[in-house]
Amino acid sequence: MHTDTFTGETNAEKLKVKQAREAESVGKRVLLQGWVRTRRDSKGGFSFIDLSDGSSLKGVQVIAENKLPNYESEILKCGIGSSVEVIGTIVASPAKGQLTEVKAESIKILGYSDPDKYPLQKKETSMEYLRTIAHLRTRTMTFGAVFRIRNEICRSIHNFFQSRGFMYVQTPIITSSDCEGAGQMFRVTTLDLANIPWKEGADNKREIDFEQDFFGRATSLTVSGQLEGEIFATSFGSVYTFGPTFRAENSNTTRHLAEFWMIEPEVAFCDLEGDMDLAEDFLKSIFQDVLANCADDMAFLNEKVDNTIIETLKGIVESNFERLTYTEAVEILRNSGEKFDFPVEWGIDLQTEHERYLTERKFKKPVILTDYPRGIKAFYMKLNPDGKTVRAMDVLVPKIGEIIGGSQREDDAETLESRMKECGLNPDEYWWYLDLRRYGTVPHAGFGLGLERCVQFVTGMSNIRDVIPFPRAPKSCDF
Ligand code: ATP
Ligand code: MN
Repeated sequence: MHTDTFTGETNAEKLKVKQAREAESVGKRVLLQGWVRTRRDSKGGFSFIDLSDGSSLKGVQVIAENKLPNYESEILKCGIGSSVEVIGTIVASPAKGQLTEVKAESIKILGYSDPDKYPLQKKETSMEYLRTIAHLRTRTMTFGAVFRIRNEICRSIHNFFQSRGFMYVQTPIITSSDCEGAGQMFRVTTLDLANIPWKEGADNKREIDFEQDFFGRATSLTVSGQLEGEIFATSFGSVYTFGPTFRAENSNTTRHLAEFWMIEPEVAFCDLEGDMDLAEDFLKSIFQDVLANCADDMAFLNEKVDNTIIETLKGIVESNFERLTYTEAVEILRNSGEKFDFPVEWGIDLQTEHERYLTERKFKKPVILTDYPRGIKAFYMKLNPDGKTVRAMDVLVPKIGEIIGGSQREDDAETLESRMKECGLNPDEYWWYLDLRRYGTVPHAGFGLGLERCVQFVTGMSNIRDVIPFPRAPKSCDF
């Protein structure tokens, strides 16, 4: 059920290769292990079983003749969802839909599945319902396609960085610093919540005594591996992280998860221009790999979920992203004549509706916005000479809005320290981060790509909860 990669040009060529490969396989004896997708019984005295092992969109058609000793007693009882082991021979298929099929010489039922009780029935397939059976939704065509594509994206990401000499670094998941200073973190504690140790804090207010906690201080799940990534970048040059990230933001949207995966490259001797070039090359390489290696899955989703995805990805791979400053974008939005829910003025954080206007209506392609107001961006972004803006860049794509957020980092120790104070952070707690600027500072830059936003964009799935195996969101943590 594996489809090999193919690097040729046209569909006709592709088909030729496929046909040749399948013709070669005719006559081979095979062992198949998988789950029954459908069983159709023909009056001619045999059954068709569509068998899938999840390795590709298409299953294998198995022909079970009534000559088989367990035909009546077992095969006619094995319904959708049953697991079976087939030994048989590949033969040319007379029917449409596949070039070859497997004629069974024996079929062993490993596990029955009662078709009347099987939760995956054709009538109940809303995404909301499937989320409640996340242990079985992975057997559907749609989720099969989504998760094979997610896997291809992960492979492509590692390939991209490894082939360019980036070091893969594993930054900690439990942290005592808050990267964004936004306080949307999940606490990590072993304190007895029914018996919290209190101590007297400032202004006679009681405070939790974290000295008694596991780590002897307050700790949380990380919101980003960037700060630690910078340590490695200033030793190894080019590095990237790829790991889980946690945000306790109470935003019940179709684009936010409480637990998601983030890829964060960090590059020394690199400015914002280099950072944007890297981000653009990176996304294009992912999209190219998906188009080349997941053709069947993409064609399926293009038909069933969103009929623009293939065309959109092809268009992106072949053209350049639009690049403009935040200030220019604000001008465009203000002069657009559009009525936004959130009115636009210089200094506001752009909302998804604004980002979507720019990518979908104005430029009709990905847009990189740079040089945002300092007031709405994190303390570590490099201050521009104008004193008002920072060297930030966000990559926006149609439908999703922000897919990547990045910046050139502040490399001047004094400026960084004053930015920390301005953002209400205590520089003493970031002593090691400031040290990176004190001992051999270099210009450096990086960004974060949300893996699920990327999978969502590529697959056209409308809710981010349907592109991660087991979504975590406010009031929802099943499986
Ligand atoms: P947004 O404004 O969309 O909430 P952000 O600006 O808070 O995102 P960053 O801190 O810049 O996000 O994180 C880098 C990337 O991580 C984002 O561009 C996005 O792709 C992804 N991301 C951020 N928050 C989430 C989330 N809650 N769920 C899934 N992906 C996220
Ligand atoms: Mn961002």
